[in-house]
Amino acid sequence: MRIILLGPPGAGKGTQAKRIADKYDVPAISAGDLFRARIKDPGDPLGKELKEILDSGALVPNEITVKMISDRLDQDDCKNGFILDGFPRSVEQAESLQKMLKEKGIELDAVVQIGVDDDKLVERISGRFSCGECGEGYHDKFKQPHDPSTCDKCGAVDKFTRRSDDNEETVRDRLHTYHTQTAPILPFYEERGMLKTVDGMADMDDVTRQIEAVLKAEKGPNAHNSPKKFG
Ligand code: ADP
Ligand code: AMP
Repeated sequence: MRIILLGPPGAGKGTQAKRIADKYDVPAISAGDLFRARIKDPGDPLGKELKEILDSGALVPNEITVKMISDRLDQDDCKNGFILDGFPRSVEQAESLQKMLKEKGIELDAVVQIGVDDDKLVERISGRFSCGECGEGYHDKFKQPHDPSTCDKCGAVDKFTRRSDDNEETVRDRLHTYHTQTAPILPFYEERGMLKTVDGMADMDDVTRQIEAVLKAEKGPNAHNSPKKFG
């Protein structure tokens, strides 16, 4: 199972990537999470530069991003597959990815676009928070923890955090970046017959079902992973 999840910020890529990854037992690789891990590391010389870029809503330069993804795909846990969330984000990155996969002898099974209207995205992003311990994602309105201070998944107490770029101004900049730089990769994959679109306006479980239906239909020669929990 080797797939890319595409969509604007707040579309639900991270939410769905984690669910599909868990089900198929492959890692969910979020470019944004890789950057945030480096920002969190006080000893990382790149951290400060990355924080400024992320807080501005711009894209991190390709030479940093492409190498980071390539190194991540070389790790052992990617041998049976992966789900890429947030990469590629420009035609140049999509071309780099094609080249990289060819060199590594890997074929993609599907490119799934999660389509959501812009006005919904601001609401989704401004209500987003996550557990600082395990990364489980929540939403003020659409996915509240059972206890307001306790993570449902790992039980951590008072560990919920919000991203510094999840404010309305940066969200607008990130949406602009998406429309000008990322959306042009949709025709790139469409021309190659790889693009499948699901309705991301639906509720989370429904979106998961739509993605699973795409994956079942698209199962290519490399999509040998069986769902871990049900068939
Ligand atoms: P992305 O990774 O594409 O930026 P996320 O997966 O982090 O998006 O989702 C953004 C926010 O919207 C999160 O708070 C998440 O809980 C919520 N969310 C995700 N999918 C849906 C959905 N289908 N309906 C309602 N809220 C959703
Ligand atoms: P995300 O976690 O996907 O919302 O991404 C957060 C931020 O990380 C983006 O607004 C960009 O600044 C940066 N980023 C994520 N993925 C990429 C990428 N593929 N290329 C460049 N920058 C990225």
